[in-house]
Amino acid sequence: MDSVEVDFNQDRPAASARPTGVAGIEVQGLVKQFGPVTAVESASFQIQPGEIVGLLGHNGAGKTTTMRMICGVLPPTAGVITVAGYDIVTHRRQAAARVGYLPESSPLYPEMRVREYLGFRARLYGVQDAKAAIEKSVDRCGLEAASSRLIGQLSRGYRQRVGLAAAILHDPEVLVLDEATSGLDPLQVIEVRKLIEELSSDRTILLSTHVLSEVETICDRVVLFARGRVVAEGDLETLRSRSKSGAGASLEDVFVELTAQAFLEAGP
Ligand code: ATP
Repeated sequence: MDSVEVDFNQDRPAASARPTGVAGIEVQGLVKQFGPVTAVESASFQIQPGEIVGLLGHNGAGKTTTMRMICGVLPPTAGVITVAGYDIVTHRRQAAARVGYLPESSPLYPEMRVREYLGFRARLYGVQDAKAAIEKSVDRCGLEAASSRLIGQLSRGYRQRVGLAAAILHDPEVLVLDEATSGLDPLQVIEVRKLIEELSSDRTILLSTHVLSEVETICDRVVLFARGRVVAEGDLETLRSRSKSGAGASLEDVFVELTAQAFLEAGP
């Protein structure tokens, strides 16, 4: 299962022992090699606490691989990742306690009821006072009416809400969401986006998406990947100013231009 299986309460340092003034997520010289395939090649970027940042890129650009490494699900081949100041390799427990992950295919069990599933995930995370944590997640994700229903009978939009509720059970300060609105109908997209915006009020969020309008609607900044590298980073205005079409360029123009440039530079 794509989840971070650690006891989130053990070794959790007191707030006073935590680093201060640190980035929500910091990625430095990140590399991931799968045999001969270089999925991520020396990627570096930072996300400040409280930001919503969109991770954009073509299929196979390295977004999911990067997100899985940030969440401690996959070890990096090289490079350093810190979450809320904790190194995901050397201080995995502390870092993982601060990050919630919604994978592209959220591992839900259709035969379980919503509350039952959240209880299962809370046990897996080792969450103390699971009952209170479940109530809080159910409330924040608008699942009260659905909480006794079988997951398999829920709409895709509600299943995403369950995935988000599971991701915030241990009250992480950073959320990593892999294509959270993919496969949803337009109304469900609007609802899940609204929920993500609500969850961002007290969290740092990194989300990947192929929907450029989503980035324009909810993200403060963009990190654009192409062929395993970060080819551009900044707010939309900054990215537009880098485009040949100038300040009037659409995000789509910028995306296509910068991605094509990366392919040209890298060769066949
Ligand atoms: P998409 O938008 O299609 O989800 P992505 O940007 O998330 O793409 P990744 O899934 O990170 O891209 O994949 C990056 C590259 O690494 C691709 O070439 C992919 O085939 C390869 N890759 C990913 N996981 C593995 C794996 N477990 N073994 C071998 N190659 C892998």
